Amino acid sequence: MCRVVITVLLAAGITGGCASQLQVYDWPINFSQERIELSKQYADEHYGVDSDNIRIVPRMIVLHWTAIGDLAGSFSAFDPVRLPANRSDIAGAGQVNVSVHFLVDRDGTIYQLMPETWMARHAIGLNYVSIGVENVGGVGGNDDLTDAQVAANAKLVRELTTRHESIEYLIGHYESQSFDGHPLWMEKDRTYRTEKTDPGQRFMDAVRTEVADLGLRGAPSAPGTSS
Ligand SMILES: [Zn+2]
Repeated sequence: MCRVVITVLLAAGITGGCASQLQVYDWPINFSQERIELSKQYADEHYGVDSDNIRIVPRMIVLHWTAIGDLAGSFSAFDPVRLPANRSDIAGAGQVNVSVHFLVDRDGTIYQLMPETWMARHAIGLNYVSIGVENVGGVGGNDDLTDAQVAANAKLVRELTTRHESIEYLIGHYESQSFDGHPLWMEKDRTYRTEKTDPGQRFMDAVRTEVADLGLRGAPSAPGTSS
């Protein structure tokens, strides 16, 4: 993005700095030592990773919606260290609460909730290789994400691929199970799966159109393929 802006400015005979810095606000969720320990336990049990830290090398970006209609409520879903009582659906797979690296409000404001190179719990099978981006919205499975969120996600994806050359894939959460059997899929428990529809194909198509020049890959067309 910056390169394009500078090129335009130079073409117009104007010199100056980059005019489109991405604004990201830090709004950390509670990532206490207990949460780190629970995350290490999750990585060990689900991925066979026995490490003294929870650092990851991101290979993909996974986009989501929170299914919660407001920013504060969305943040509150990720802030507690342990899974709340209403997440009995996945409690058997570990007590560490769900988490995500970035949260995008409906007006496109981007918040960073935790370091992007720490493992979050947001996508079964792929947590150890992915950065997660949640979008406020999608209540009841209704595709209501905004144009501002499309633009913000596209800018964030562009920025993250600049920071991490290891990122090759951009997917929607609903596409994540297509990686089952792929070398990047690490889940050891064959029964630990959840069907997802977020953040919807319309949203993914719109974001992908804006970042098409990055050449990021999508989900494999069949398990085990290398697309
Ligand atoms: Zn999701």
